[in-house]
Order: sequence, then C-alpha cells, then structure tokens
Amino acid sequence: MPVNQETQAGQAETRKFVYDFTEGNKDLKDLLGGKGANLAEMTNLGLPVPPGFTITTEACKVYLDSGTEPPALRDEVSRHLDALENRMGKKLGRPDNPLLVSVRSGAKFSMPGMMDTVLNIGLSDESVAGLAEQAGDERFAWDSYRRLIQMFGKTVLGVDGDLFEEALEEAKKGRNAVTDVDLETADLRQLVEDFKAIVLKETGRSFPQEPREQMDLAVRAVFDSWNTDRAKLYRRQERIPGDLGTAVNVCSMVFGNLGPDSGTGVAFTRDPASGHQGVYGDYLQNAQGEDVVAGIRNTVPLADLESLDKKSYDELMQIMETLETHYKDLCDIEFTIERGKLWMLQTRVGKRTAGAAFRIATQLVDQGLIDEAEALQRVNGAQLAQLMFPRFDENATGREGVQRIGRGIAASPGAAVGKAVFDSYTAVKWSRSGEKVILIRRETNPDDLNGMIAAEGILTSRGGKTSHAAVVARGMGKTCVCGAEELEVDTKRRRMTAPGGVVVEEGDIVSIDGSSGKVYVGEVAVVPSPVVEYFEGRMHAGADDADELVQAVHRIMAYADRVRRLRVRANADNAEDAARARRFGAQGIGLCRTEHMFLGERREMVERLILADHDDEREEALGALLPLQKADFVELFESMDGLPVTVRLLDPPLHEFLPDITDLSVRVALAESRHEKHENDLRLLQAVHKLHEQNPMLGLRGVRLGLVIPGLFAMQVRAIAEAAAERRNGKTDPRAEIMIPLVGTVQELEIVREEAEKVIAEVEQATGTDLKLTLGTMIELPRAALTAGQIAEAAEFFSFGTNDLTQTVWGFSRDDVEASFFTAYLEKGIFGVSPFETIDRDGVGSLVRSAVEAGRATRPDLKLGVCGEHGGDPESVHFFHEVGLDYVSCSPFRIPVARLEAGRAAAESQGSDSR
Ligand code: PEP
Ligand code: MG
Repeated sequence: MPVNQETQAGQAETRKFVYDFTEGNKDLKDLLGGKGANLAEMTNLGLPVPPGFTITTEACKVYLDSGTEPPALRDEVSRHLDALENRMGKKLGRPDNPLLVSVRSGAKFSMPGMMDTVLNIGLSDESVAGLAEQAGDERFAWDSYRRLIQMFGKTVLGVDGDLFEEALEEAKKGRNAVTDVDLETADLRQLVEDFKAIVLKETGRSFPQEPREQMDLAVRAVFDSWNTDRAKLYRRQERIPGDLGTAVNVCSMVFGNLGPDSGTGVAFTRDPASGHQGVYGDYLQNAQGEDVVAGIRNTVPLADLESLDKKSYDELMQIMETLETHYKDLCDIEFTIERGKLWMLQTRVGKRTAGAAFRIATQLVDQGLIDEAEALQRVNGAQLAQLMFPRFDENATGREGVQRIGRGIAASPGAAVGKAVFDSYTAVKWSRSGEKVILIRRETNPDDLNGMIAAEGILTSRGGKTSHAAVVARGMGKTCVCGAEELEVDTKRRRMTAPGGVVVEEGDIVSIDGSSGKVYVGEVAVVPSPVVEYFEGRMHAGADDADELVQAVHRIMAYADRVRRLRVRANADNAEDAARARRFGAQGIGLCRTEHMFLGERREMVERLILADHDDEREEALGALLPLQKADFVELFESMDGLPVTVRLLDPPLHEFLPDITDLSVRVALAESRHEKHENDLRLLQAVHKLHEQNPMLGLRGVRLGLVIPGLFAMQVRAIAEAAAERRNGKTDPRAEIMIPLVGTVQELEIVREEAEKVIAEVEQATGTDLKLTLGTMIELPRAALTAGQIAEAAEFFSFGTNDLTQTVWGFSRDDVEASFFTAYLEKGIFGVSPFETIDRDGVGSLVRSAVEAGRATRPDLKLGVCGEHGGDPESVHFFHEVGLDYVSCSPFRIPVARLEAGRAAAESQGSDSR
C-alpha cells in the first residue's frame, strides 16, 4: 500500500463515518451532504422522516483517494443497520416482513440528476414474497422487484438502460398495454426473469440476491458516481469544488404506489416565482417519485390533496409552516403518503427567481424571521443585475418572422431590437431621424463611439468580453453581443451572412440578447425593467403604483448602504454618464478616461499634435485642445459637485488617434496614381509608420506618452486645474484627483509629478485659489505592484487597474484571448470564469493585497481604489472589501450591484467577526 493510502486508512480508523438521522443537523452539510443534513434536521424537529442513516463525504473521499472503502466502514454500517432494523421491527431483505431501503446520493451542493439513487434495496427472489404479504399486494411486490433490478442493473452494474426499457416495451406490446400500470402480476414476474437474464448476459454474473451485498454495491456506486464525466462537467460549470465527495443516505423505504390512499408530491413553502405565501406544489396519486419525473401521468395541484386526503394535507401544511419558521426561508419539499401516512423524504432551502429572492428577503424581515444583515445574504448582485436589464419576452422568440441566426459572447446584458446598420455614420444618422438601430461591426474601435451611443445595441463578430465593444457597451449599460464568429460581417457591402445563407441587409430588423448571446433576425418583443425605472428616479418606491419588487429592491439597497464600508464610484467621462451614475448612487468618479474626450472633431487636433514638427506647432495644437478639455472638466465637476473625480491623463497609444494604416496606404496610392495632391496624407502615413508598434499595449502609452510628448500632460493638468479653479471661485466644491496611468517605477511618477505641481501652482497663483488637488497613480503593472512601497512615496492615492494588471500578470492579451482559447480553458476547468471578469485572487489578487500593505506602510493615509472592470463584479467586490480598499469604481449601470455587494461583504464580515 503506498504511504499516503496507509496513513489515510490509519487516520480513517479514528473517524466516525456513519451518522444516524437522529445524530446530524442542518449545519453538517460538509460532512452529511445537503440531503443528509436536512433529513437529520427534520428528524430532530420531530417530523415524520423514514428512519435511516448517512454515510459521510469523508468516507467517500477515502474511497475516491485510495480506491477502497475505509476499513472501519463495514462494521459501522452494520451497527447502524442493526439499529435501523430494530427500530423498524424488520430485517433487511428477510424473506418474511423484509426491510427495504433506498440508497441515495447527497453532496454538499445539489447536483440535480447527476448522481445515482437506487430504490427497493433488499428485494430478492425470496423476499419479494414477504413484501407481497406485507403490502397485501402481489403485483406491487413484483413491480418493486423489477424496478430494483432495472435501477440496480443500470446504475450499479453498468448495464445499458435501454436493454431494460426495450424488454419492458416488449412486455407491454405483448399485453397491448399502454403504460406499465397495465401490466399484471404474471407479466411482472416474467419481466423480473427477463431482467435477470439481461444482467447475467451483460455482466457475466447473476443479480445479487444477498441484501447486504446489494446495499454495499449501491453505496459504492454512489461514491463512484461523483466522478462520472457528466458530474465533473456539471461541477466545473457550477464552480463546485471537485474534492468534496458525496454522502450516501440509506433510508427505509416508504411507498406511494400502494393504492389510491398513497401518492407522492413536491411542494414549496411559498411561490418560488413571486415569493407569495400559499399552497404551491404538485401531487400524484398512487405513484412513486420517479413516476412524477417520468411524466407517466399528470400531476394535480397540491391544493387538490385537501379533498383527496384531508388529514395528510393538514399535516403537510403544518409541517411546511414549521419548516419555514425553522429554516427562516423558502423550502422545497418532497413527500410521500403511504396508505394515509405522510412521510417527508427531503427538504432544502429552495431555488427562486431573482425577483422572488428580493421579495422573500423583505417578507421574511417583516415576519420577524430574519434581520436586515441576513436579508442581505439572501440576495446577490447577479440577481440584481438580472432585474435591471430589459429582456426578451420568452414566448416571442418562436413567433413568425423571428429566426435565430447565431450566438456570440453575452458581453453586456439586456435585449435590443433595431435596424441593422454597419457603420457609425449611418447609426447616428438613422437614430437622429428616430430609428432604433443595432450597430453591427466586425469589431469596434474608438471611432465607433458615436455610433455605439446612437445604437440600441452592438453586435460584433470578433472580440471577447474585454474587447472594445464589450467594455464600452457595458460602460454605457448597452446591450452587446460580441464575437459571434459564425456571422460574417461585410461592412463594405453593408450586410451580414449567417450560416445556412440567411443574409441580413442594412435596414433589416435584428434582435440581440446580451444575456444569452443569441442573435435573431426579426423583432422579438422586449419587456422593460421597473428596477431601472426606480434607480433612474422615474418610479418611486413609495408610490402607490410601485410594484412590490421595486419596494423590495429599495429596502435591500437601503440596508446595503447602511452597512457597507466600501464607497462606490463610477467610471464615467461625460456629464451625462456622471449624472446617471449619481442617480444610481455613485459617490464620485473613480476613472475618467480622458482619451474618450479626444474623439470626433477633436481627433484632428490630436493628429496635429502628433504631426507637429516644431514646438510652435505643438503648442498651438495643445493650445487648441486646452479650452475644450477645460470645458469637459467643468461639466464633470459640476455634475459631481462635492464628490471626488479622478481624472486619468491620456493612456492609449497615439496610433489609435490616427487613421488605419491600410486605409491610409490605399488613399495615398490612389492619390498618387491620379496625380492628386496628398501631402497631408503622406505626412500622416509617415507618422503612422513611425508610431506603428508590434505590441502597442506594451508600447508607447500611459505615463510614457507624458514623458516623451512635451506639454501633453501639462496641458491636461492645466485644464483640470483651471476647471477646478473656475468651479471653486463659483463657490462650488470640485474635488479633482489627477491620476497617472501605467506607471512601472516611482521615477516616472516623480517626473510627471514635478511638472504637474508646477502647473497647479501657476494656476493657483493666477486664480488666487487653493485647489487641493491630489495626485496619484494607477497600479496596473506587476512592477508597480511589486514596488508599491516606493511608488507610494510619490502618490497620494492608488487605483488598481485590474484590466491591465490581469493582462500583464497572466500574459494574456485582453483584446484577444477571450475570443480565442478561453472557451477551451473554461471547458477544461482551468478556470471557472475569465480572470478578466472576476479577480484572480491567488495571482493578481495577491499582488493587489501586497501592494495595499506596502503602500499603506509608506503612507498610512494612502487612498486606495480599483477602477478595472472587476470593480463592478460581485465576487471581486468582496475581495476588495477584504483587502481593505476604500472604494470600487465601475460603470454607471453596475453601481447598484457594487453597492449591494459591498453591503453584503460588510454584513458578512461583521457576522463572522461577532461569531
Ligand atoms: C485597467 O487597466 O484596469 C484600467 C482601468 O484602465 P484601462 O481599462 O483604461 O486600460
Ligand atoms: Mg489600464
């Protein structure tokens, strides 16, 4: 035996591997799995649970690691089985009066349909007669036996399930039976023989007649089912850790198929769609649980049980109330009635829609069952985000005239419908004349901004979740599907071709679903979000017509705001976004990307700056930009009066402001062939060539621009300072913070800082104001994070640029990887979610953590924030709370989500502190 197996087996001896239902409780989910823990909890509440015991996940882990059950397990199971037999007054599989058990899987997290279950363990050629006697029903006994061989053969012995189904079909045909209920005892006896023959033929062994062997094999099969391909895939998709293992519940059987006074059903303690209290569920008379799933007969509404079996119905209602009060939450339940006796087979805290989660949380507060901190744990940011997007009416996607033509990456949620346009100019023109348009591009670039603003939604055939289209669309809260590679976009001919030859021409209606990535041709009906109407201030939570959902969201947001420590700012670079951000609860701007102010007609001015050969020319170009920049900042400071506004100096490589190299080359070549004048284009082309970089993201951008283009940063600082002075002298309260991007070493920052301070002092003197401007940097390169202690000497604040930091820590190009190999990485489970979406705690996160510590060690009052996309990601917000940042900054539409998650993080850590 290898050493680790030996030690594992050794340790195993001292552990307890089997818990009677009377020994566990709901908090032992790690050990007993969700089902086992809840069965124990119900047992302890005195509810009618069929007696049984749970084999722990620890036993499963030993089995999975070493390939064999822990040596002590067999005896422990024997002791618990004895106790169970004594309690029931029956013995497992004994020919007269047999005890039958079910063997069910039950992991910590529910994995519906993934794991195995075997019912009726204990039946054999001998005990089937005993069951017939016990139940007074021979047909029932043989039917139970054939079900056992079928289920056991398939899940435990690995026989192809179709072989049993085919034999069953044959038997039905021979009888002209429509369903298996029409088969008689003799048919079922024959079927048992046929099934046993199948087992023998397929496995080379007889169906085991020894009941304990049946049980042990079934337990082992449940352990093994943890590692089936489908279970592994499900876990990867749902981000369930692969090493948890499953528990196994051995439970005495009760039967819902013993006649009309028996049956089985499922119920919710309140409506999982609305949260309203009432009677919600389904019941199937004279049936076992699997019949409900198989849909052999139609179920009736649970309310009908009252007339069928009033005693059981009343008891069930009473139990549901007990469960709700005890779990303080919506529970779902499975139950069986055996000859008028109600048995609870399962309960758990039930799944619910996003809207119901908010409603239920506040309803439970009103009922006094939970407090506000707990209410925050009952909802999450993903649910809030879901409630904020308009969505397609599900029933409308199959209507006439609507056809799904492709699917891309769900980059920015929502539902958008409009006429297809293939360039920004047309998007703007058509939208000005009142048309709704969808901008379709292969990929977008800063030139498309106006078109993107004008469009209802954006569709691209290239690029991933952090491509330009995706980031900008998310920033605007605009629906975006990107990287729909099966769609061929031909912008020159203004058309898009889908697989199968469907052609979408300019002006055709298309519908895009940014929550699923689906693309349709035709108009799908859209339902607007009342929650956005509320955040926008167009609906008041207190108004008579405000729906229950809006009121619930309003209350939960108030709880979150009350407890959160993190402040929430917006990434915004125009007054409109800033105003919206403020309506959504922003406490300032954490990132104003000034490059967004250099588009449209101002681009030419930047071109002039880039082309300038002499200082005079350069100064003239800068001089022309200064008042425009200043006016931008005046507006921004006005809309964020009294709140901090972090303005980042120019970041992207200059070539982004110049025409495309290919287009320009063609233009120059054409002009030359026609002997037309083209000096300006020629100069531009030379500049483009000069600035061309193989890796522009690692090239001349950020602080490097400020250091090599004389006067550029000084002009921006002057614009900020003059704007602040103007507002301050107008007796308002601008709070500007100047941020330097892409710093890798403190020396870079010191040079820029010195220059900036000089400009600020000049403006202060000229205007007679104390501007109180602060100067800080982004931490978005590994070197910056690693030398954060030094950098803090020259920075009053850090803002973590986790987009670039992720790009540079992983060596992943943020513009390319998501559309290329990330799908394979996700499928292989290398990560469950893109590190550009949720912060990679172990890698990027650990750099953030150490930079926070080093920065604060140098400068205890260093202000710390984050402005990468992660600032609005629910899971990442918890991380930023944990590492002690002061604020997160995200796009305006994600502000409510960030507020909520910041509140949840604070409530959670307060809870764990006081525990
Ligand atoms: C970042 O890198 O995280 C960041 C916010 O800057 P940008 O996305 O503009 O590069
Ligand atoms: Mg960056």
